[in-house]
Order: sequence, then C-alpha cells, then structure tokens
Amino acid sequence: MPVTVAIVGSGPAGFYTADALLKDGNVEVDIIDRLPTPFGLIRAGVAPDHQTTKKIQQKFEQTALDDNVCYFGNVEVGRDVTLDELRGMYDAVVLAVGAPFDRKMGIPGEDKKGVHGSAAFVGWYNAHPDFRHLDPDLNVKAAAIVGVGNVAIDIARVLIKTAAEMADSDLPDYAAATIHASPLTDVYIIGRRGPIEAKFTNVELRELGKLETAVPQVDPTQLPDGVEGDWDDRDRRLKERNLATLKEFAARRRDELPKAVHFLFYASPVEVLGGDRVEGLRVERTRVEGNRAVGTGETFDIPCGLVIPAVGYRSVPVPGAPFDAQACIVPNQDGRVAPGLYVAGWVKRGPTGVIASNRPDGVAAAAHIRQDIAAGNKPGRVALQAILGQRQVRITSIADWQKIRAMEEGTALPPAPRRKLSSIRDMLAVLDGS
Ligand code: NAP
Repeated sequence: MPVTVAIVGSGPAGFYTADALLKDGNVEVDIIDRLPTPFGLIRAGVAPDHQTTKKIQQKFEQTALDDNVCYFGNVEVGRDVTLDELRGMYDAVVLAVGAPFDRKMGIPGEDKKGVHGSAAFVGWYNAHPDFRHLDPDLNVKAAAIVGVGNVAIDIARVLIKTAAEMADSDLPDYAAATIHASPLTDVYIIGRRGPIEAKFTNVELRELGKLETAVPQVDPTQLPDGVEGDWDDRDRRLKERNLATLKEFAARRRDELPKAVHFLFYASPVEVLGGDRVEGLRVERTRVEGNRAVGTGETFDIPCGLVIPAVGYRSVPVPGAPFDAQACIVPNQDGRVAPGLYVAGWVKRGPTGVIASNRPDGVAAAAHIRQDIAAGNKPGRVALQAILGQRQVRITSIADWQKIRAMEEGTALPPAPRRKLSSIRDMLAVLDGS
C-alpha cells in the first residue's frame, strides 16, 4: 500500500515536499489549502511586478497534476477537518502553513487608522481574499515603511511605480485604481540599524534606482567607506554590492524626478503620531553596538499619513499541533514534530529566505517520512473525500484551479498576465458557470 501523506498548505514549502515525496514513488500525496487557489505566497506574496519569480507555479501545477497527487482547495484544517482527524486518516501529515500574520512593532499608536502591517498590505495589492477589503487610505503625500527587508522594498516599489510601469503586472484593478490615484510623492524606508545590517538583497535594491518618476535618496554620511565586521564571504559580497548601490543612490539629486524613496538608517520607531489617524512617525536615532540597535535618546518626526510595518511575519498555532509562542514556530527536530507529524517552510524555521529556501525543508520532510514509515497502512484520500463529502465541503480540484486560471488569463488586458479574482465567491462562481 502506498504511504499516504497530507500536506497542509500549497505554497512553496508544500509543493517542494510533494515533489520530494514523488521522487521515491509508492506514495499518495494530498495537498490541502484553505483557498480555492493554490501556491500560497507565490500567488499572494511575490510582488505583482515580479512575474518571472511567479513562473515557478507552472512547475508546481505540473506536480499537482501528477497521478499520485490530489489538490483539495477551499478546505480549511480546523474548520472543515481537524488535524487529529487528518492524522487518523493519513500515515503522515506535513504542516506547511507558512507565517501569514504580521509581527507588531510594539509601539504606542500602532492601532491608528492608516497603519497597515505588511502581510495585510501585500495581501491587499495581491488580491488575497482575506485582505481585499483592507481599503487603505492612500490619499497621502508621504508613507513610512518600517524595516529594511525585501518586503519593505517591494511595498515601496509597488506604491511609487506608475500605472505604465505596472502595466505588465497582475496588480488587481481595485488596488491599481487606489495606488495610481494617490498623490504620494515621498516614501521613507526606515531601518533601525545601519545599511550594512539591512536585510534586502541587491537585485531588489537596484530596482529602486530605475524607477521612472521616483529617485532613491540616502544620506551619504550614513554610508561607511567599506564593509567592516565578521561576515562570511557570501554575506560580505552582498553587503559590498548593497553599499555600492546605496552610494550610487546617495549621489542622485532629489530634484531629478518628482517623487522619492528615502532610506533612513539608524532610526527606530518609538511612536505612531496623530489622533485617530496617522499623522507621522516618531523615530529615535540609534547607533549599532555589537550588532544591536541602541537608542541615543534623540528623536525626530517623519510627517506621513500611512505607516506600513514590514518587520517580518509570524506563524500562528495550528489546533492540535504544538506551538512555540516565543519563536512563533511549531517546535521540531529538522522537520519532525511527533510520530506521523512533520513541518516544512516558515512554520518550521521562521519567516526567512527566498522561495527556493523551502526546497531543503521539503527534501528533509520527505526523507524523514521515508525513514519513519516503511509501508502505508492508513486510507488517506478516500477517507478525506468521505468526511468532506459528509460535511458538504465544496472542494476545488486542480482542474478547477485551471478553470479559474484560464478565466483570469483570458480577461486580462495585455500586457498584464492575468486579472486576478479576489473573492472566494467569485472563484466558485466561475466554477459553477454563473
Ligand atoms: P526581513 O528580511 O526579516 O526584514 C525585516 C526587517 O524588519 C529588518 O530590517 C528588521 O530589522 C526590521 N525590524 C524587525 N522588527 C523591527 C522593529 N520592531 N522595529 C524596526 N524594525 C524592525 O523580513 P521581510 O522583509 O518580511 O522578508 C521575509 C523574507 O522573505 C526574507 O527572507 C526576504 O528576503 C524574503 N523575500 C524575498 C523577496 C525577494 O526575493 N524578492 C521578496 C519579499 C520577501 P533588524 O534586522 O534590525 O531586525
């Protein structure tokens, strides 16, 4: 009998796990996702103007079409079926549920209108059904994005690019209308440490130097002559490239273009200012000591009507699985959680790394399953289909996804690759032919 495996979550970690399991054969893999559409952050996290990065979903779709794989979309573990039930039905369950929520900055004023965490904001401009109604007020001249990682860079770019620059993206209509009507001229990207400690990668940073209407700005006095410190060769090369790019930005004149993206380093947010609504962000100047930001007591204010903390994501507990609330992960030993229960991706190791960083997690989970379970003895798919049938859950299959995809691609205005549906009701309506 094949080993039956349920993978919860259809993002990169889930699909890399499925790929790795299929390589050894004699396995039946079911991939469960709470959305009708698969691919997790490939669809709803990768920036809408980074279409090349999204191409990996074609490969994942091929995996989903394998005879030994079945996609169960629109099925929520915890609502439609419990984790305990899944563990009873499958020889192995792999949690690959990611880190879908925002970390908080933990400062006063963070709950004011006009503060939107990056998970919500990125979800909004990527047509994620949970965030399509976010309705951010972009009738602002200035925005502050907190954090100097790739998510902060993505958000700055999407906010400041023109409609023409976004024409070949899959930015949904409602987000395009709001963003491109915005009078925004200045975006501040705020790092609590220095340029050497910043987390962004160089390709993403350099993109900010090629915008049609916005010029990157950096205070040259914040840039060191070279990269000091104890970095491995790879990190040192990246930091040297980033420093060179930031030096180019520092030489750009503010009046070259009508808009600007400003990098402010050594600035740690201490309070979101304003009444009900955001009117500014107070930051404390810092210096870096032993790799940590240390406050100097000196503060200054950045007037802005929008604050987007892009300070990292967090996983949430999956009912029935252990959870380390401090680290915000499911505690595990290289992916093993308990007999028959495994993890992969951000819920295993926290929210870092690029798409391909999830591949080793999938390979490890598959190897452990092979090692721990010599032969299958649980029914898997037939049992899941039976229980979801009894509960009248509207499952979407990979063929259903292909119909939604065809609809999204067919209604797009070239050069846009697709016109994304953002509501589950609309997705199901496509399938029902209504
Ligand atoms: P990240 O790379 O971990 O960056 C988070 C940033 O937030 C850091 O600069 C961090 O500063 C800062 N931060 C954290 N807590 C803070 C606080 N309380 N106050 C002020 N600043 C704070 O996370 P991310 O940008 O969310 O990205 C997540 C992962 O996805 C990363 O591995 C990223 O590379 C990847 N990603 C990749 C791409 C791409 O390849 N194009 C695009 C998007 C995301 P400290 O360093 O001082 O903690």
